[in-house]
Amino acid sequence: MIVFPGDRIGNVEEYKAGEGVYEDGGELFASVVGVFEFEEKKVRVRSFRSIPELKKGDVVVGRVVDVRNNFAMVEIARKKGEERELAHTGLALLHVSSIGERVGSINDAISYFDIVKARVLDTSPKISIREPEMGVIKAFCSSCKTELILDEGKLKCPNCGRDEKRKISRSYGKGEW
Ligand SMILES: [Zn+2]
Repeated sequence: MIVFPGDRIGNVEEYKAGEGVYEDGGELFASVVGVFEFEEKKVRVRSFRSIPELKKGDVVVGRVVDVRNNFAMVEIARKKGEERELAHTGLALLHVSSIGERVGSINDAISYFDIVKARVLDTSPKISIREPEMGVIKAFCSSCKTELILDEGKLKCPNCGRDEKRKISRSYGKGEW
């Protein structure tokens, strides 16, 4: 689960504060943006950090793990040109300004659990899906979780018939990227 600085994640009777966590008045809070994890009696927040194998300009594929008002977080799994998954996976930030289409809401462009293909903007890491080749390559129905199919340029759920919007990649549904 993703937490933000100031999010309450427990209290000192339950856990010890680990990396990325601070204590205030007996309560534990996240001090960084990241994923929180328990380690025995300790809670820590694994923050964004550079993934050693990534360079600016690389093309990566990952899964959307959280969507907020202005940005989404993507767990990067693979880099284009390499067969194997990355030895160090990690979170990347996709800001709404890096989506490239005029979308009313980030939810019209991507959704939780989608698989996206993206360009690495910097190694913090931040990613972009502005280019036509970048974007969602696999998406699931928000109602019944079935994989959406592309039908005459529109995403449709083959199970319940629901139409959904995404900023899709040219490679959507082709099983290759
Ligand atoms: Zn459906």
